Amino acid sequence: MSVFTQMAENDHEQVVICRDEGSGLQAIIAIHDTTLGPALGGCRMWNFGSFDEALDDALRLSRGMTYKAAVAGLDLGGGKSVIIGDAKTQKSEELFRAFGRFVESLNGRYITAEDVGTSPLDMSNIHRETNHVRGCSRGSGGSGDPSPITAFGVFCGLQAAASWKFGRNDLHGLTVAVQGAGHVGYHLSKELARVGCTVLISDIDAGRAAKVQEECGARVVPPEEFFDQECDIIAPCALGASLNADTIPRIQAKVVAGAANNQLADEQSGEALQERDILYAPDYVVNAGGLINVWYEGPNYRREAVMDEVASIRRTTRRVFEISEAEGLLPEQAALRLAENRLNSVARLKRVWCG
Ligand code: NAD
Repeated sequence: MSVFTQMAENDHEQVVICRDEGSGLQAIIAIHDTTLGPALGGCRMWNFGSFDEALDDALRLSRGMTYKAAVAGLDLGGGKSVIIGDAKTQKSEELFRAFGRFVESLNGRYITAEDVGTSPLDMSNIHRETNHVRGCSRGSGGSGDPSPITAFGVFCGLQAAASWKFGRNDLHGLTVAVQGAGHVGYHLSKELARVGCTVLISDIDAGRAAKVQEECGARVVPPEEFFDQECDIIAPCALGASLNADTIPRIQAKVVAGAANNQLADEQSGEALQERDILYAPDYVVNAGGLINVWYEGPNYRREAVMDEVASIRRTTRRVFEISEAEGLLPEQAALRLAENRLNSVARLKRVWCG
């Protein structure tokens, strides 16, 4: 399939293929939609098996960013970039500066940020070549690791989902199973323990799970038994596609709300959750905290003000469930409806010539 055919499938605006001999840079920048503003999305560094695999990821992830920003009420479009390479062995200042120059050449149409395989330090190297980057280390004037803020947003979304499903506003006494004790899972577990939840934690890295056990009094669950646990809520905070034909029939919880991107393996997974009466809080609605955080980055950045904005995820998640109920849609379809309504109304406004 040609790149144009792939772009046409989900109406992508632009794909930039970047190569720099000296640094070894091979990267793709995908811009999905800039109706609402410049396309913002993280830069992922991953050892992709092929160019097609990398392109697929960039196209899929950039589209998700359009909807995430739209639902979060931000004036941002959707973009994403991927650097093909091993994040453990192939990083260098030169590589990220080379990437930064390509970002600069887009003149603000694309703003990059941290993602899987990249760090605030990498963002600081990109920043040496362009201002169109967010999430730099605090020392370089950025807001640093967004994960605690993402975790707070997930917590708010999870509260809204629990309130919708169980008809109660506090989480005290509920059992929440968190998959992944990484950056987000760790902070989410802490918050859940703080409000009196019983936390079950699972990670393929035993050391990370042990840390959550020690600091939050969580019970460690083997990764292969995660979906069989008796609990009220499941919070997927590891990789995508964790909700699939194998795992959904095993879920004992009545609510799923977590940070991982693209949790539903396919369309049928959303239907299977509904058939089992499990409420799914769409991933990009509840995990928008990091994006909201970088949007507010700048000289006037105040973390407390950002936290207030991120707390709006509670209201947005509830709105998604209201639309879902009123229109007989799955929650993920309701979220898409919310995003598309905003995109269409802003696109319509832009037809008015301002002189
Ligand atoms: P991370 O890499 O720090 O943590 C992921 C953890 O999941 C790791 O500890 C890993 O060992 C574990 N893991 C992988 N497979 C597992 C499995 N099968 N069972 C149990 N554990 C497993 O990543 P993160 O920054 O915490 O992000 C978590 C998820 O949230 C990712 O999908 C990410 O794309 C998404 N997300 C993160 C942010 C953010 O601000 N960090 C923002 C939005 C979305």
